[in-house]
Amino acid sequence: MAHSPLEKIRNIGITAHIDAGKTTTTERILYYTGKSHKIGEVHDGNTTTDYMEQERERGITITSAAVTAMWNDNRINIIDTPGHIDFNIEVNRSLRVLDGAIFIIEGVAGVQPQSETNWRLADRYNVPRIIFINKLDRTGADFYKAAATLTEKLGINWVALQLPIGIEDQLKGVVDLVEMKALIWEGDELGAKYHEAPIPADMADKVAEYRQKLLDTAVGVDETAMEEYFEKGDVSVETLKRCIKKGTISGEFRPVLCGSAFKNKGVQPLLDAVIDYLPSPVDVEGIKVAPEEGQDETAERRIIPVKPEGPFAGLAFKIINDKYGNLTFVRVYSGVLRQGDMVMNTTKGHKERIGRMFQMHADKREEIKEVIAGDIAAFVGLKDTGTGDTLASQEDPVVLERMAFPVPVIDIS
Ligand code: GDP
Repeated sequence: MAHSPLEKIRNIGITAHIDAGKTTTTERILYYTGKSHKIGEVHDGNTTTDYMEQERERGITITSAAVTAMWNDNRINIIDTPGHIDFNIEVNRSLRVLDGAIFIIEGVAGVQPQSETNWRLADRYNVPRIIFINKLDRTGADFYKAAATLTEKLGINWVALQLPIGIEDQLKGVVDLVEMKALIWEGDELGAKYHEAPIPADMADKVAEYRQKLLDTAVGVDETAMEEYFEKGDVSVETLKRCIKKGTISGEFRPVLCGSAFKNKGVQPLLDAVIDYLPSPVDVEGIKVAPEEGQDETAERRIIPVKPEGPFAGLAFKIINDKYGNLTFVRVYSGVLRQGDMVMNTTKGHKERIGRMFQMHADKREEIKEVIAGDIAAFVGLKDTGTGDTLASQEDPVVLERMAFPVPVIDIS
């Protein structure tokens, strides 16, 4: 299979308070990206991402450590970021290797305590985020109240890209504030389509208010866009999208989308937003090498840029045992690695031979012959490579920055 150009790769995580809908959203994404033919509802106990139960039962790995999905010619690698507070170390590990995240909050409760914890962790790694306010079909859901908790609890500068049309069991679609059109869903079934419609007249004031806020916030990050805006009183969709991407990556503001994953409302536009606004591997800085002995975290260090031409360097971020043996998930930062290549485990100081490599999809694993900078793959049968170890070429045997853990212990005595 041909490589996706780097600009068409997104390495993302989905983080949420428990029960906010991470599993459901992931399922829907896998469904829409065409890799999962049968949808697993959470209550059936057969969701693709709840793999551990199944693994125990059936002895197979349908792994969620990193699932690959294709969306309009783009490759989205979804890296599992455990949601529960007890897994903070795991959350840390996975945040290190992703370039962006979808942050889900609930439409009824808004930001919950554990969302705060996960938000701060993502802050620590400067992970660009888009926010999805889920469960708007539920009784008591309120987009505006839930969004207000982003300000109250997280103190962040957020900006709505969508407003819901209807709410609770009357949730019909969203107004897209970027392209200024309404998207109305047809039916509740999986694979539900939506059609474009004029913005409902009774929402005109709200839409004008939030569109203005979006323009003021987004355009503020870009001089040229600002000029265009002041000259014409408006900006093109293209310019606006560029500004939103810029502000999202820099963290100056956080875009907000909404819907109901369970009812299949809002997931396709969410995928579009992942492609439009979250960074590709080349939009981010690269990775630092680890501090030398005696150096501290803040010391000036070499940065390994994300590019296929360089010597190979990658980070093992998760290991899963299945019936085929060890699967080591590696995020590649630089170079290309092919089956049969020798690499150094520079963390431990020994060589490893690369055997089979796979990309994991929802319902199958796809064998690949090589993996390139920016991408993620699972390696079979590495002898002694642990989570957090660097694999690098013998030419340039760098050790990459390790994941910062353990998490500081909070003393409450
Ligand atoms: P997770 O813990 O964040 O992975 O949350 P799940 O995806 O497992 O969802 C928790 C519960 O909320 C499940 O019973 C889901 O069916 C339900 N749920 C998820 N998304 C929605 C939604 O958009 N609307 C409604 N009404 N229920 C949802």
